[in-house]
Amino acid sequence: MIDEEELRSYLAASGAFLEGHFLLSSGLHSPNYVQCAQALKNPAWAGRMGAALAAGWSGARPDLVLSPAMGGLIIGHEVARAFGVDFIFTERENNVMTLRRGFRIPAGKKVVIVEDVFTTGKSTLETAASAAAAGAEIAGAMSVINRMGERTLPFPALSLLRLGLTTYQPDKCPLCAAGTPVVKPGSRKF
Ligand SMILES: [Zn+2]
Repeated sequence: MIDEEELRSYLAASGAFLEGHFLLSSGLHSPNYVQCAQALKNPAWAGRMGAALAAGWSGARPDLVLSPAMGGLIIGHEVARAFGVDFIFTERENNVMTLRRGFRIPAGKKVVIVEDVFTTGKSTLETAASAAAAGAEIAGAMSVINRMGERTLPFPALSLLRLGLTTYQPDKCPLCAAGTPVVKPGSRKF
């Protein structure tokens, strides 16, 4: 298993912790961001994180792991490997989370949603809704990092690490006031 201190030091060493001026998907601004893709670029570590999530899961055993692309792809695959089940993913099509590529969820199958980071919970809820619409039973959700603060998901959830999230309303953002350009994470070549 990975202890929290070890995971934090790995995230730092892999370049996952970014400092700057970021536009979050919620529309809020933040002075920091976790680029989990940096932490997942090492396959051995991705495998360890997936194994730790599966080992720590106390909910119903999933029949299938489902992740929203892109962020959830690698960690979802590794969680599925640890559970010994299949892995499929949703993609946005006309801004709606959709199962494409012929992916199907047999009715009544227990599905766990796996993400890299829970921030607003929006993509997790959308992915769960698409699975439920396909007839799945939502067993819960997992992520490497949870930045949701006091917010919770409406089903069992597990994360390896909770991190605080400093946010500013755009009109009250000190970084905007200082004239620092705001960056949408994922769209910039760091
Ligand atoms: Zn700002």
